[in-house]
Amino acid sequence: MRKIDKKISIIIPVHDEEANIPLVYAELVRVFAALPYFYEIIFIDDGSKDASREAVKSLAQSDSSVRLIEFSRNFGKEAATTAGFHHALGDAIICIDADLQHPPALIPKFIRLWEEGAEIVFGVRNNNASDSFIKKMGSALYYKIIRLMSETEILPRATDFRLLDRSVVLEFNRLTEHSRMTRGLIDWLGFRRVPVYFDAPERLVGEASYGFLKLMRLATESVISHSLLPLRLAGYIGVVIMILSSILGTVMFVDRYIVSLNFNFSGPAILADITLFLVGIVLVSLGLLAYYIGHIHTETQNRPLYIVRRDHKK
Ligand code: UDP
Ligand code: MG
Repeated sequence: MRKIDKKISIIIPVHDEEANIPLVYAELVRVFAALPYFYEIIFIDDGSKDASREAVKSLAQSDSSVRLIEFSRNFGKEAATTAGFHHALGDAIICIDADLQHPPALIPKFIRLWEEGAEIVFGVRNNNASDSFIKKMGSALYYKIIRLMSETEILPRATDFRLLDRSVVLEFNRLTEHSRMTRGLIDWLGFRRVPVYFDAPERLVGEASYGFLKLMRLATESVISHSLLPLRLAGYIGVVIMILSSILGTVMFVDRYIVSLNFNFSGPAILADITLFLVGIVLVSLGLLAYYIGHIHTETQNRPLYIVRRDHKK
């Protein structure tokens, strides 16, 4: 087939996926055989303990479009995808899991949407049939919370199965923050985004590397890096406590020293109310502190002030 002069980079984070690597590779080659694009497949080995590295190396020997980036240890999927973005040379970069839960058959559609003007095409799962009940509940709850708190719009069940235009990746590569969730950062970047819905099949071989704890950590991380609300919550609670306890305090004062309302508050009750009021003050101070920490937080994240889509110069 005559190729057009555009390159697609596929980046695949790999952690203990020796059985899946040949499968996902074969699938990708099949898909690209029908597409007029040059391509490269970059496997990022995220400190696998099995023979994943060897599997990629043997593919690379027979196919020069396969590349292996080997981490010195396990740094996590977010780091692996970031490394992929740093090394990819394509005009469009596609992120895909090694376990075939992201069907490569969708790639032509991704590319078509990209050619039609989308700068980000992202896969959204219709179902999560393969996930446990807890994981399903957890993710529903997680998206509820993050939607309430976050300033950037996040679609539930959006996956890391994404196509990014080169211009988006260049902007992504400027982000320097350390605790990161790739998905959230890409959403934060903006650009023209187009969802593609798909059914995620069961994991083909092996275990999901993301257990409950690791997912919890990722969720907390993304909430914290997207929002300052948890910090401010203490302050809000403090304000409520202060208001309620001062109303109660006023009633106590009036009852005892001005006109008896026949409440006859006991000494300990009055003491408790005063203590409550002081707790309120402490919480409000915490909330205020949160504002300052929030400022430091955004400063240290050091995100660019704005993202330019294109500079329309002549
Ligand atoms: N992965 C990785 N480093 C890790 C854990 C996972 O690079 O520490 C890769 C893994 O090989 C797979 C992708 O990230 O290609 C998604 O992992 P998994 O299937 O375990 O996650 P889930 O499907 O539950 O999101
Ligand atoms: Mg998976």
